[in-house]
Amino acid sequence: MPHDTTERFGTVKNYVDGEWVAPGADGQNVVNPATGNALGYVGFSTGEDVDAAVEAGLAAFEDWRETPVEARIQPLFELKRLLEEHLDELTETLVREHGKTMGEARGELRRGIENVEVACGIPTLMQAGHVQHAAPDIDETAVREPLGVFAAVTPFNFPGMIPLWFLPYAVATGNSFILKPSERDPLVTQRLFELIDEARFPDGVVQLVNGSVDTVDALLQHPDVAGISFVGSTPVAKHVYEKAAAHGKRVQAQGGAKNHVVVSATADLEFAAEKTVSSALACSGERCLANDVVLVEESVYEEFVDLLAAETEKQVVGDGLDPETTVGPLITPEHEERVREYVETGLEEGAELVVDGRDVGRDGEGNFLGPCLFRDVTPEMTICQEEIFGPVLGAMAVESVAEGIEVMNRSDFGNAASLFTESGSEARQFRHRAEAGNLAVNAGTAAPMAFFHFGGQKDSFFGDLHAQAEDVVRFYTDETVYIERWPNA
Ligand code: NAD
Repeated sequence: MPHDTTERFGTVKNYVDGEWVAPGADGQNVVNPATGNALGYVGFSTGEDVDAAVEAGLAAFEDWRETPVEARIQPLFELKRLLEEHLDELTETLVREHGKTMGEARGELRRGIENVEVACGIPTLMQAGHVQHAAPDIDETAVREPLGVFAAVTPFNFPGMIPLWFLPYAVATGNSFILKPSERDPLVTQRLFELIDEARFPDGVVQLVNGSVDTVDALLQHPDVAGISFVGSTPVAKHVYEKAAAHGKRVQAQGGAKNHVVVSATADLEFAAEKTVSSALACSGERCLANDVVLVEESVYEEFVDLLAAETEKQVVGDGLDPETTVGPLITPEHEERVREYVETGLEEGAELVVDGRDVGRDGEGNFLGPCLFRDVTPEMTICQEEIFGPVLGAMAVESVAEGIEVMNRSDFGNAASLFTESGSEARQFRHRAEAGNLAVNAGTAAPMAFFHFGGQKDSFFGDLHAQAEDVVRFYTDETVYIERWPNA
């Protein structure tokens, strides 16, 4: 088995029924994208591995669902404490296996911790409704009840945060939960589960199965998995949505994105340029909330493109462990190649490359590409329509904010969008007309705090109840209505 562990991590294991066990099938190396060094090895779980986790989850569910809600949240308080205590170490692990900067990794983990904090409020979040005298001598009460074993399948780009969009809520509501993290960066998740082990959830309540496509298919087909939460690319999100539904499961599936910024002539242009570039390039553009198409009112277009170019040129590309770095490597050499191909396609289709990062990282180790800024892109161009997931942004002039919103709404995706303006009326127009689930005015990245759900529309989301907060609590529970008649004696 290829296993060249040059840094300090070893073989990643599954966590099933409170025990660490090796997955049954061969898997792949976990590679540091900044150096190309193997950090560890992850095996893939077989159908039998998944069966064992579901069986343990079902067995644990029987007692866990009856455990008083106040007792169910105590391990979450402990997990929050442990995550805070180990934040530095988790941050470094995340940087090594993913490639983002230390600041980005810390920010990601903070949002993960925030979700644990919100789920600690489950005694309130789980309350449904009660009406006295709903009919003569009748009171009616709605009660939220857990459903059994849930699973979540998560992507590579936020391995420390996205599992926590689901896990704390699933277990706080009384379900048991199985996580299938991305096979590309499973190390921070393994560490998270070591802390979960320390936090003393009962065996089988929270479990980890590593793997890839076959592992996901086994979860999707398993008759005793009540529901699936998925986050990843749109084709896989669609597949998961359809297959989970065909097997009678609840499903929420978040897909890929193509996000837009509209810049009004009234905006503070320097501020808008700084926030736009940071939104497009943070995490090397490997973010579902990255705004990488910039629609600028034509009267300020030339000035704004100059500001974008100046901001883009300021970026420092390098290993995320270096405090100077603002743009880290891409996740794999294959993905780097794919992003480079998008840059070539942009040129072939007629856009002008104002900042050209193609020479950065061409010959060295690691999957680096310098930031690239295109101007004069058009809505028909491939780089305007497809998710690039790399440090590439494109600007185009539009007649007005209204036209910018109209161009944006032609996208198949609907994850996020931002508007920079000083006009209340433009902001209101944007709020009412923009077709995306997460909208921001005068902020580069529309990332909701954990106490709001994480939106998504069109090809960016399949389902109805989203991740985080009250939406996910509803996803993980079923509402039973009790109707009681007690006539007065
Ligand atoms: P991906 O779709 O390749 O993988 C996501 C998960 O699905 C992984 O756990 C992977 O093992 C599994 N998987 C991959 N192919 C599969 C298949 N054919 N059948 C079953 N399971 C499969 O996504 P990724 O490259 O890890 O992540 C990047 C994508 O995720 C981007 O498109 C990004 O926009 C999206 N994303 C979306 C959100 C959101 O909130 N909408 C958040 C983060 C990332």
